Amino acid sequence: MNVTSSFTSIQSRISEFLPEMVALRRDIHRHPELGYQEQRTSDIVANLLAEWGYSVDRGLGGTGVVGTLKRGDGNATIGIRADMDALPITETADHDYVSTNPGVMHACGHDGHTTTLLTAARYLAQHGEFDGTLHVIFQPAEESLGGGLKMIEDGLFERFPCDAVFGLHNIPGIPVGKMNFIAGPGMASSDTAIVRIIGRGGHGAVPHLSVDPIAATGSLITALQTVVSRNVPPLEAAVVTIGSIHGGSTSNIIPDSVEMELTIRAFSAEVRELLQERITTLCQQQAQSFGATAEVDYQRGYPVLVNDEEQTAFAQQLAIELFGESNVATSDPITASEDFAYMLEKVPGSYLFVGNGDSASLHNPGYVFNDQNIGTGAIYWAALVERYLKRS
Ligand SMILES: [Zn+2]
Ligand SMILES: [Zn+2]
Repeated sequence: MNVTSSFTSIQSRISEFLPEMVALRRDIHRHPELGYQEQRTSDIVANLLAEWGYSVDRGLGGTGVVGTLKRGDGNATIGIRADMDALPITETADHDYVSTNPGVMHACGHDGHTTTLLTAARYLAQHGEFDGTLHVIFQPAEESLGGGLKMIEDGLFERFPCDAVFGLHNIPGIPVGKMNFIAGPGMASSDTAIVRIIGRGGHGAVPHLSVDPIAATGSLITALQTVVSRNVPPLEAAVVTIGSIHGGSTSNIIPDSVEMELTIRAFSAEVRELLQERITTLCQQQAQSFGATAEVDYQRGYPVLVNDEEQTAFAQQLAIELFGESNVATSDPITASEDFAYMLEKVPGSYLFVGNGDSASLHNPGYVFNDQNIGTGAIYWAALVERYLKRS
């Protein structure tokens, strides 16, 4: 099958039911659910998949859903993943399908990702020409809660083996209809350090009788800037941000302690290790040099997201054939992090990006997912599955 005819036929089939899917996206948008609470959303997903003929498994990672569709007797398998959770944000967008769940909003477009994958799943069930096994994976709790990891711990890839796994995210600021790919490390690891500098409090007028944690912290703030500038190799990228600092209550009291919170990003496991080692050592030894002590609670978050070179080349080439060279770009790595990194640690694949146009940024209360992405993304997913599980 050549790509042009496949594209035209996928596009025309999907256009027949696209308005219904856009309405579904808006319905999910009206009823956003936080991580691990996606009951209604996962009911919708599971019921539709079952209606379309998928064998449906629920409960992985709590509210996760996997739909499996097998055609022919080929052994190849592919997984496509979407995320279902919303954020604790009060929506300010001005349209007629705003959130009806107070303080909760789909501000990252996961309602759109879910609907895009459902749209492709519907096409593939009703018209898909492939030989092998498709797993559509709907994960809970992408937003910092590690729902993807939970699904893996619940046996995702043992129960539903995949030769390759793919996912996508919308990106504001990139025109609608454009797709971006990153081969290799594409998104950063995201770790947090909570640092407590402990001195000995006392009267502000007699500092020599205290151990001042504020003075020690002041020096430590400067020292921490040298981790990226002096320890990380110049051609590697990393971020160390001190995002919060709290200490003291009034002018004439030296407090007992100061607390700082850091976010730390890296693009390789080696740099990630280095950052942890240097930050911990600097905090402890800087504090010690002032007669204070430091407690460092270093919390590892999502790992580095590494896109497989070969799978990314395959996925990018297909996008070029479908949408044209001018609509497909290779982009620089992104310092945000993503739960899909855990799946890519287990199975080779790629995480790609679709433009959301000139919208408010992700996680902004005025963010709006562009519904055109449902068609674009679903055509792409459908073609990717048909190409990957090509009839021999
Ligand atoms: Zn998000
Ligand atoms: Zn997101």
